[in-house]
Amino acid sequence: MLAELCNFLKRVLTDKALELGAVIVNRVHVRELLTDGGAVTGAVGLGTREPVITVVTAKTTVLATSGRATRLTGSVTAFDKFEWYSAPSAANGSGKVLAARAGAEVVNLEFVALADSYNLHNYSFSVGLPSGSWWPAGRIVDEDGNVVVRRNRDLPLDDPDYKAKYHLLVEDYQRQRATIVPLLKQGKSLYFDLLEATDEERERILWALGHEGKTGVLKHHLEKRNIDLRTARFPLRLGQRRDALGNGIWVKDATTETSVRNLYATGNELPGTGIGGGGEALVIGFATGEQAAARAKETELPKDVSALCVAELKKQVAEIFGSENGDEWQSGERALQVLLESYLGKPYTENALKQLGLLLHRLSADLKLRADNLHQLNRVLEVIDLYRLAELVAVAARERKSSLGLFRRSDEADYPREEEGTFIGVSWKNGAVKASRLSNPTT
Ligand SMILES: Cc1cc2nc3c(=O)[nH]c(=O)nc-3n(C[C@H](O)[C@H](O)[C@H](O)COP(=O)(O)OP(=O)(O)OC[C@H]3O[C@@H](n4cnc5c(N)ncnc54)[C@H](O)[C@@H]3O)c2cc1C
Repeated sequence: MLAELCNFLKRVLTDKALELGAVIVNRVHVRELLTDGGAVTGAVGLGTREPVITVVTAKTTVLATSGRATRLTGSVTAFDKFEWYSAPSAANGSGKVLAARAGAEVVNLEFVALADSYNLHNYSFSVGLPSGSWWPAGRIVDEDGNVVVRRNRDLPLDDPDYKAKYHLLVEDYQRQRATIVPLLKQGKSLYFDLLEATDEERERILWALGHEGKTGVLKHHLEKRNIDLRTARFPLRLGQRRDALGNGIWVKDATTETSVRNLYATGNELPGTGIGGGGEALVIGFATGEQAAARAKETELPKDVSALCVAELKKQVAEIFGSENGDEWQSGERALQVLLESYLGKPYTENALKQLGLLLHRLSADLKLRADNLHQLNRVLEVIDLYRLAELVAVAARERKSSLGLFRRSDEADYPREEEGTFIGVSWKNGAVKASRLSNPTT
């Protein structure tokens, strides 16, 4: 449903933008934001299909780069087959790195956490099962076929009591879902299935599998073995969900302008939004567009300050292509994940976080990745961003001295209690990552 809606919206929005005279540039990996006089003045990007550098000079710039940073840790099952992913770039936190390098604060990065969850055997994702992309047909059953989580039904949108009924439906559904982890912990065998899916639901779910990153691996296997999605029963395993929770680019108020002038953040790049936030992304996107356009009307077109940035990007690209003895990007990514996984999920101490910072610094300094073509080059650049993101995470985690939610410190008694509602913001200032304390914007 979401995918169909998005496809439709994309067409409507692009047609309208073109009609109004917008220039749309696709397949460009934005590598740096341009700044001048304390304001963002545009962006520099590298083509993913052509070796071309694109420079945009802009009165206002909006980061709508989405928020996920799941590549900071490996898959739950350690099974990663990158070439079958359809969208790995959505999970490298690149927008946060762009913002932080331009001096804008990014918050909640310390909440990279592991939490009890469940997954399919040998696959590294759940996509919210049995709901999410499997909604409403997905069920959870036990070994004898007893239903633990029932399939659901969409409610008619024109029902006058839609809201109240929807709340009841979600509450009931969540109650059923909450039994999954305890049952698995008791050693029960549970399975996910789509036995009750209609033909239409089956087609939609297959479509979604092909378009949602890591789920492409499952689709690939089903097709290769000629297995109908509805006849398969997928065993569940206990695992730990790995995620960077609630993080995002700090905005000072409802205008969604960041802490750097003329730079706006929107959609899932805002703190507190995230997966499941298609609706939020749409609404916030409209609001940000209006604000950024209003500011642009009262702003002079800035001068082009891209020369140094373009020269550095060219140098970086030449080094990566010329690095014959460098490692493949997958090795660089895995090395980072292994390091982070050794520190995540345990209560932090000052010493452990200091050590993480030092090891990260050493690993980054030794990082030498190679590329033989544009595809690999873009992957290498994504991994470089992951290392930068990890640096932000390590500084943020060291700065927060008290436990909060999934963030835990075992040495918190050594420090004054962190004030409620305090956010840790991190960004690059004069070449180094600095942390600051921010409070919730109220307007
Ligand atoms: C598997 C999955 C299932 C989901 N199911 C649902 C659902 O059922 N219902 C729901 O409401 N929501 C769902 N969501 C969430 C929903 O997709 C997001 O909330 C929504 O897409 C966020 O919109 P956005 O515009 O903020 O970011 P996105 O739609 O993620 O767009 C961000 C874009 O920025 C691009 N980008 C990132 N970095 C750069 C860079 N450096 N240079 C250039 N481009 C860049 C990305 O390639 C991407 O195209 C799901 C998400 C996933 C991953």
